[in-house]
Amino acid sequence: MTFSMELTEEQRELQNWAHAFAEEVIRPAAHEWDEREETPWPIIQEAAKIGLYGYEIMATLRQDATGQSYPILCEELFWGDAGIGMSIMGTGLAAAGIASAGTTEQIFEWVPRCYGTEAEPAVGGFCSSEPEAGSDVGNMRTRARYDEATDEWVISGQKAWVTNGGVASVLVVQAVVDPELGSRGQAAFVVEAGTPGIVAGNRLKKHGLRASATADIFFDDVRVPGSALLGGKDTLDEKLARAREGERTGGQAAMATFERTRPTVGAMAVGIARAAHEYALEYAKERVVFDRPIIENQAISFLLADMAVEIDASRLLVRRAAWLGATRQPMARAEGSMSKLKAGRTAVWATERAIQILGGVGYTREYPVERMHRDAKIYDIFEGTEQIQQLVIARAISGLRLP
Ligand SMILES: Cc1cc2nc3c(=O)[nH]c(=O)nc-3n(C[C@H](O)[C@H](O)[C@H](O)COP(=O)(O)OP(=O)(O)OC[C@H]3O[C@@H](n4cnc5c(N)ncnc54)[C@H](O)[C@@H]3O)c2cc1C
Repeated sequence: MTFSMELTEEQRELQNWAHAFAEEVIRPAAHEWDEREETPWPIIQEAAKIGLYGYEIMATLRQDATGQSYPILCEELFWGDAGIGMSIMGTGLAAAGIASAGTTEQIFEWVPRCYGTEAEPAVGGFCSSEPEAGSDVGNMRTRARYDEATDEWVISGQKAWVTNGGVASVLVVQAVVDPELGSRGQAAFVVEAGTPGIVAGNRLKKHGLRASATADIFFDDVRVPGSALLGGKDTLDEKLARAREGERTGGQAAMATFERTRPTVGAMAVGIARAAHEYALEYAKERVVFDRPIIENQAISFLLADMAVEIDASRLLVRRAAWLGATRQPMARAEGSMSKLKAGRTAVWATERAIQILGGVGYTREYPVERMHRDAKIYDIFEGTEQIQQLVIARAISGLRLP
């Protein structure tokens, strides 16, 4: 599969379809759901009704051999609004967790359950971070113990910052199964959110992405069947045995997975940056100060030009990394992390500059760039902070195990 800048017929149709939904359904509702700070179920339902949300569409997009479809969808939906976009795409984290670690049987059973049905859509949550284990995932404390007598796993601990926490039906939970092995002694489980012993904390009041639910989730001796272990017990036992012998294969596989998922997150940031840029560009053509449209000042027009360059550069990095991931090529220079780092920074910078171009009104909630700026900031933080991306890239380009 060669890399091409040209979108296929299907990719163009997807782009137009998603764009129309973003423009006609998401955008008009963006301000309301940001203010309400609630999960926008009617919009998720609307997306499910037209086939834009659900197991089938996500599975189809993931099969695109060029890897471009998923980022295209993300960019368009997040161009509409990031909070609602995350409510629609956040389930993808749980689905990807199941798809990457689960057996075929587990994938077919649980991924559809993450999305629910057209009539009754559901959302899923991915529980990795903890209060003391955000960037440092090796410091995870949530424990899963195997009860041989009942063939059950017993999970205890606190997960932090779960997207869709409190509203998800299915949770993918990462837990320590062998504390002596550090991050190589972890495993993933898929559980029903309603299982006894699981309690969601309060929905967090956030700076941005306010339509998307975020909450801690507490696990108090939660008993789940042996079949909840993603990949199964034999695979886990083999992995742990290899780790005890000093092999590092597990960690490398996890890094490779991150490299493949980060471009998708970068695409979301590109969508936000593009939306802010378009808004600022139109505003600059219309706003008259000192008897001329502000775009006639080079300070403004050159800034808009720079924004266009940065956004296109970010998208190109996203497209390259998505293609490398889909074609299973090694990302020797951490190209996935590069794309997410660049796109996140671009989104924060471009949305802040958009406020500057709008002046006072840009700082109010009457205009969308203020919301876009709040939404953009998370792209420097989740799915690996800016500094963690830099660390990953520095390690990749130097070949050194830098601290
Ligand atoms: C809205 C939102 C949604 C989220 N959704 C999810 C989710 O669905 N599932 C999930 O598991 N997690 C989720 N997270 C958690 C997110 O991934 C973490 O917040 C993130 O990984 C950072 O961890 P932390 O907050 O503990 O920061 P810390 O790890 O405490 O980092 C604090 C600061 O120190 C810096 N730092 C840390 N180590 C180094 C180093 N070695 N070198 C240089 N700088 C360093 C960091 O870059 C950061 O600036 C979400 C978070 C938010 C805010």
